[in-house]
Amino acid sequence: MGICATCGSDQEYRIQIDEGGVPHGSPGHQITYRWTNLYVCLRCGAGVLAHFDHDCFAPPYDEPWDMNWRWPVTVQDVQRLEAVLTRCPDPTRGACVCPVHRSLRASDQASRAPDATATILLTEDELPELCFRT
Ligand SMILES: [Zn+2]
Ligand SMILES: [Zn+2]
Repeated sequence: MGICATCGSDQEYRIQIDEGGVPHGSPGHQITYRWTNLYVCLRCGAGVLAHFDHDCFAPPYDEPWDMNWRWPVTVQDVQRLEAVLTRCPDPTRGACVCPVHRSLRASDQASRAPDATATILLTEDELPELCFRT
């Protein structure tokens, strides 16, 4: 959760695109834990896509365990996603296997890049795809 970079208002946790593993410190944690979330501003509707990656294989003085990436998402792109999100039974569950979630996950993993602009496009079947442009 955070503060909107555009207008300074609070953001709402809108959709978990992906989650893998068990959080560090929780029973069953095995080295890695990751998630990809979309937060949306309650006032202006601008979004931010956030990816968290934890890996405690190496000692902490060698490599940071936790990595965070963030990409701003425009109001128009958020609205494009909202329009098809009604097809998902559980937007905040990263393990959801509905077509909307599967499409978002596949496009995220295929094209994610750190210093890029994240956009959300719709396929011919009206499924959302993340597109990172550098
Ligand atoms: Zn805002
Ligand atoms: Zn879903």
